[in-house]
Amino acid sequence: MYADRIKNLPPYLFAAIDKAKQEARARGVDVIDLSVGDPDLPTPAHIVEALKQAAEDTSNHQYPSYEGKLTFRTAVADWYKRTFNVDLDPRNEVLTLIGSKEGIAHAPLAFINPGDVALIPDPAYPVYRTATAFAEGEAVVMPLLKENRFLPDLEAIPADVARRAKIMFLNYPNNPIGATADRSFFRELIDFAREYNIIVMHDNPYSEIYYDGHRSLSLLEIDGAKDVAVEFHSLSKTYNMTGWRIGSVVGNSEVVAGIGKIKSNIDSGTFGAVQDAGIAALQSPKEIVDDIRKIYQHRIEILYQALQDLGLELEKPRATLYLWAWVGGSSIEYAAQLLEKTSIVATPGLGFGKYGEGYIRFSITQQTKRIEEAVMRLEKMGP
Ligand SMILES: *Cc1c(COP(=O)(O)O)cnc(C)c1O
Repeated sequence: MYADRIKNLPPYLFAAIDKAKQEARARGVDVIDLSVGDPDLPTPAHIVEALKQAAEDTSNHQYPSYEGKLTFRTAVADWYKRTFNVDLDPRNEVLTLIGSKEGIAHAPLAFINPGDVALIPDPAYPVYRTATAFAEGEAVVMPLLKENRFLPDLEAIPADVARRAKIMFLNYPNNPIGATADRSFFRELIDFAREYNIIVMHDNPYSEIYYDGHRSLSLLEIDGAKDVAVEFHSLSKTYNMTGWRIGSVVGNSEVVAGIGKIKSNIDSGTFGAVQDAGIAALQSPKEIVDDIRKIYQHRIEILYQALQDLGLELEKPRATLYLWAWVGGSSIEYAAQLLEKTSIVATPGLGFGKYGEGYIRFSITQQTKRIEEAVMRLEKMGP
């Protein structure tokens, strides 16, 4: 019945762990699920209030515009200016998305012909690979290795592959690793993209979730980035709005227009009231995100310490909602044992690609008291 693009989806690796989790819950075991990257904290009240008011506005009851409200796109541009000192023209360098996943999943359709190469990191958010496959492109993996600070080694990409590549996906601060990129890497990346005529698609939903005062970069801060790149941004992680489905893609105007062309033939835009609430989010006082960051910082500290005490090899993340710990051997086996011994669920690294094998990802998107409980269980289990 199904088309090859569905039949060829990668196998679902976590069936056994999901089953064990459900069975444990059915037995009444108090399972702590640290496998999901979905903020537990509520959306700030002023944003919810803005939605309520915007829902009453009858102009929001009809089809929204394809590219998004100019008011929302202007708020995104202003936010980029304030946050990164990046200038964007809201008329043609910003497009509203139904969450950044939607834009990422549609983007290859605008640029990839069958057989064209998309360079994708491994381990990575799985959408880059499936979106490439849906466009009948060939995904070529760039391993993210510890010895390269979890950055792709651009020089290791063979020139003939680079010449066939139309697009490259990247994501810093990185899910699942928690690694960040520095300016010098981003400069090298832009030179590489220019040399081989590759469109860089930088996925940046975690820019505001950073620790120890290490502000994260936008790729667009680098000179010349707009010639070759777009950046996906999302309100999901910054403002606890995963359920709202709103984000944006910004940067190179031709690339933005290409994604818009695909979208205008598939969806009909984002509910106007959600965009109005999105404006309220983007204009939030700085303290809103500072407070969210403080909560996460505490969780990161205690879970990092507990994993270190267990003897696992890991770096303290500079950003994101994740701790990425080396456990060696089969990550699926380790996750199964962890569940059995502590009733904690974490994500096996293999689920993010073969270079994720040997690692486990712990998320901090559960209430602080649950993370504290998880820490106690890990201490009790011991190394
Ligand atoms: C959460 C996440 C997204 C998607 O966020 P949206 O809710 O679709 O805006 C995109 N990329 C990565 C790496 C993520 O972790």
